[in-house]
Amino acid sequence: MPHILEGAVVRDQILESLKPRIAALRRKPGLAVVLIGNDPASEIYVRNKIKTSAELGVHSEKLTPPESISTQELLVLVQDLNHRPEIDGILVQTPLPRHIDTRRIMEEISPNKDADGFHPLNVGHLVANRPAPRACTPAGIIQLLKHYHVPIAGSRAVVVGRSDIVGKPLAMMLLHESATVTVCHSRTVNLMEECRRADLLIAALGKPAFLTIDYIAPGATVIDVGISRVTDALEAARLGKAAEFDRKGFVLVGDVHPIDVTHHAGAYTPVPGGVGPLTIAMLMANTVELAESHAAAAA
Ligand code: NDP
Repeated sequence: MPHILEGAVVRDQILESLKPRIAALRRKPGLAVVLIGNDPASEIYVRNKIKTSAELGVHSEKLTPPESISTQELLVLVQDLNHRPEIDGILVQTPLPRHIDTRRIMEEISPNKDADGFHPLNVGHLVANRPAPRACTPAGIIQLLKHYHVPIAGSRAVVVGRSDIVGKPLAMMLLHESATVTVCHSRTVNLMEECRRADLLIAALGKPAFLTIDYIAPGATVIDVGISRVTDALEAARLGKAAEFDRKGFVLVGDVHPIDVTHHAGAYTPVPGGVGPLTIAMLMANTVELAESHAAAAA
């Protein structure tokens, strides 16, 4: 039976390790979360971020400007947050409405309040392997691999997906951990062959159950970042989730086939319960780290 890599265990350990660091600060770390529009997934993510902040003793603020806000007005809002000393971290939840220049907004967040690690300066620090806030989901995956003592150095790691928030930063982090990294995308020729070469296969393409048994080398460690909602009963049944579908009317599925992975992998992250819990834990870690650096700068 393959080993199941549980994100919640690692999340709890990360959050626990933050408590004494928060207690040692003279004021609570402060996180501002900006949510625009009513994308249901974004609303759930933001609710969970605020809830985790409260449980941990991080001061959090949710700002919900109207969907009609212009790029210029949002820039002003971000600048205000940049100037507020009690705010250590700023997160603008994406996706933003189409009329807003997302890149421009991300660039406006002060690099030393960049809780998500998306600012180009911090991306540069990642490439140079210098300390800086790191993108939360990939940083959480590295923590998970280390927690479970999955060998990274010298491994053949294949990352499927090259987004700015998952695939690219994760590839860079794996490289810094001395993996031999291949990054695949929608134009990759013979994806199956590339994936089958992996000791460490990371799926972040956003296509439910796309990577089937033929993509997985026997014994590989499989990290499934994808989360898709399947609302078709037959499809849910095909993926072995009929009972769950009957209960809930939908099921959450990763990018890796949930049955195939149990037959072929040596270890894998389930969906849900694998990578998902780590993202918020790393957001908290980034916020505490930023608060510590602000406290040190003020001393
Ligand atoms: P994006 O849509 O931004 O990127 C998807 C990437 O996958 C692209 O690089 C794309 O290639 C590649 N891709 C798409 N189709 C194929 C294909 N058929 N073969 C090979 N590569 C392909 O997605 P994200 O990175 O934002 O997210 C990926 C998944 O991870 C989603 O399901 C998302 O919900 C989930 N996610 C989960 C998080 C968590 O906390 N667990 C956090 C963030 C994301 P190309 O560049 O060529 O278009």
